Amino acid sequence: MKNVYGPVWVIAEQRDCRIRTVSLQLMGQAQKLAAGLNTTAEALLFGNLMEHHVRPLFAAGADRVFLGSNPQLAFYEPEIYVQAIVRLAQEHEPEIILLGSTAMGRELAPLVAARLQTGLTAHCTDLVLDENNILEQRIPAYGGLLSIICPQKRPQMAAIANGVFPMPEPDQDRSGEIIPVAVPEDVSPRLQTLEVVHQIPDEIPLESAAIVVAGGAGAGDPDGWRQIADLADALNAALGCTRPVVDEGWAPLESMIGQSGRMVSPELYIGVGLSGEQQHMVGITGAKVMVAINNDAKSPVFDQVDYGVVDDCREFVPVLIEKIKAYQKNQVTC
Ligand SMILES: Cc1cc2nc3c(=O)[nH]c(=O)nc-3n(C[C@H](O)[C@H](O)[C@H](O)COP(=O)(O)OP(=O)(O)OC[C@H]3O[C@@H](n4cnc5c(N)ncnc54)[C@H](O)[C@@H]3O)c2cc1C
Repeated sequence: MKNVYGPVWVIAEQRDCRIRTVSLQLMGQAQKLAAGLNTTAEALLFGNLMEHHVRPLFAAGADRVFLGSNPQLAFYEPEIYVQAIVRLAQEHEPEIILLGSTAMGRELAPLVAARLQTGLTAHCTDLVLDENNILEQRIPAYGGLLSIICPQKRPQMAAIANGVFPMPEPDQDRSGEIIPVAVPEDVSPRLQTLEVVHQIPDEIPLESAAIVVAGGAGAGDPDGWRQIADLADALNAALGCTRPVVDEGWAPLESMIGQSGRMVSPELYIGVGLSGEQQHMVGITGAKVMVAINNDAKSPVFDQVDYGVVDDCREFVPVLIEKIKAYQKNQVTC
């Protein structure tokens, strides 16, 4: 008998034939949603020579994997990927489609949603089924969580950042069906990826850092930002930021923490010159100890952290760096 609800899909991503962490996290969540709807959890995966690399998706909860494995799909090709996903969605009528809020997901999601004439919620921080089995797509807004629903159109589509959902415990005994997907032949892409050059990051990755220093608009100017970066260096910490810092061009988008940026869970988080807006703070909910430095004693950030310093960061940060360096020197010589 046909399920009342279509399957729950994850548009999975791979890099160098390894399934990306966010895709496995989404697969775990897709499995929970599928169980709630009494339907199947399924993944779509594109790449080359991927046949032997789909196991983690099954172990994370996939019942079926639609696999496009072909030299033409070796690199992410937006026009081909969109066409393949749209065709499959029209044929199999998924109830829900989940994508990572990654560079690829952020590009694919609106293109697919527009072609399928359905809704899309970006940067969700939770996904639950309501009493009518409609997907509540929760995003931080107006000082709380706003639930967005797509009551009429299908599929219901949501993009979610890495780290929002936990990694599911892999069940190595699980397996499922692999359904081969042909490359759409009627697409003449205007873009073609010729080569992928991996950038070797020279900074500590935010997601795995034990200490994160994040700077905000209170840095004031590039010199103020440099001081905050120096503080991160002194502490051997990863450097993150808020949106205004990206808008000012002091730091790249990849450093932005929060709802539309990265999710971090360090042992220690130090927020410098930032106001504690929810769209930023949602990205640090996993931090163990939180400190804020802000020159406004009434800043809402102080209600959300464990320790607060009320001071001008331009005055306080250089002194703090000096103290840290002096302490580190003593540690070495003692
Ligand atoms: C849909 C949506 C998604 C968003 N996603 C994100 C996201 O992922 N990440 C993100 O960061 N933002 C995001 N934002 C933006 C977010 O709402 C806030 O605007 C942003 O986080 C504020 O950054 P801020 O705290 O640096 O700046 P402000 O709110 O301007 O705060 C600056 C703070 O610095 C303090 N200050 C000023 N001068 C000094 C000084 N000399 N010394 C010490 N303190 C000083 C001030 O008292 C103030 O508290 C999003 C917004 C929307 C609408």
